[in-house]
Amino acid sequence: MADATVPARPPRRVPHNRLTFGDEEARAAADAVRSGYWSTGPRVAELERALATAAGVEHAVCVGSGLAALRLSLLALGVGKGHRVVVPGYSCVALANAALACDAEPLPVDVLERTWNLDTDRALTLRPNAILAVHTFGAVCVTPARSAVPVVEDCSHAFGFSEQGRAIGGRTQVSIISLHATKLVGCGEGGAVMTDDARLAGVVRERRDYADAAPDGRRLNDKMTDVAAAIALCQLARLPEMLGRRADLAARYDDQLKAAASGAYRLPDQGGARAWYRYAVEATALGAPDLVARLAARGVAAAEPVADWRRPDDPACPVASRAYRTLVSLPLYPTLTHQEQDQVIHAFLDCCRTLA
Ligand SMILES: *Cc1c(COP(=O)(O)O)cnc(C)c1O
Repeated sequence: MADATVPARPPRRVPHNRLTFGDEEARAAADAVRSGYWSTGPRVAELERALATAAGVEHAVCVGSGLAALRLSLLALGVGKGHRVVVPGYSCVALANAALACDAEPLPVDVLERTWNLDTDRALTLRPNAILAVHTFGAVCVTPARSAVPVVEDCSHAFGFSEQGRAIGGRTQVSIISLHATKLVGCGEGGAVMTDDARLAGVVRERRDYADAAPDGRRLNDKMTDVAAAIALCQLARLPEMLGRRADLAARYDDQLKAAASGAYRLPDQGGARAWYRYAVEATALGAPDLVARLAARGVAAAEPVADWRRPDDPACPVASRAYRTLVSLPLYPTLTHQEQDQVIHAFLDCCRTLA
């Protein structure tokens, strides 16, 4: 029996993210340290084989970050000075940076309602030199099977997911993944480029390292370490289970938030199969900053998942602008317990209820 005179312990704060790992990751990292391979070694080579297999392509080349994977993909595709690279109007600033690092111009194009994915048809009409497309939060981005304009598929939010038997990562000429700590597959810092094109893979492999080449300002140090690769290999082995757990939690949010649906918010897109990297709700009534603050006051760390990096004079992208203003990412990760999720749901509904 609870003692009524003792105040109930306030519920623990629910973090926006929490890493998923076990003794396997710790042991693999320690083994890498003891092996004497502290830079790029056999574990990076093994990770490259595993990523290529998972994406259903011939080649994977590991690099130091997702941004490096984007930048080196663009360089390998011949993107350079005076070129234009389409990026989704609502996207991580890494994409625009990758274009700028190649002396190209990032061209934001609006995203589609509900999926927040690039409108690729519209992007193609602009005849850019390349297109960077993201499977935003895990919703599968429609990319042309064949197009004169190369499309780089950014799989950071949907890697390991298959649509109609076709793995995410092998749908365009080249794809990339970020292996940053908080992504679907994490290892600290890292990334990879995946492709069936041996020449492209060769260029990325050559340019991830500056050694033994004339200085050209293009070859930086974008190598991945074996310690990171050891962790990523463990995470990749866990990926199917982690994706399953994320999907179960997303379905639970759907059920419980749909039941109480009001005009105050809109739930993520449920049309079609997708991966669940983030559960992003549109705070239509409150707006994102206000909802995040109200949730924080109730012990729940939610986040505005993407920061607006666009210049005020960039072409208008009304849907992207609304996404920046209203999207709030609720905690969604494999170690989120049902009890924690219930706390999020109660806090969320409470925030929306007090609107009336
Ligand atoms: C995080 C992220 C990146 C950048 O990756 P880093 O490893 O942090 O450089 C690129 N694209 C998407 C979709 C991301 O989520």
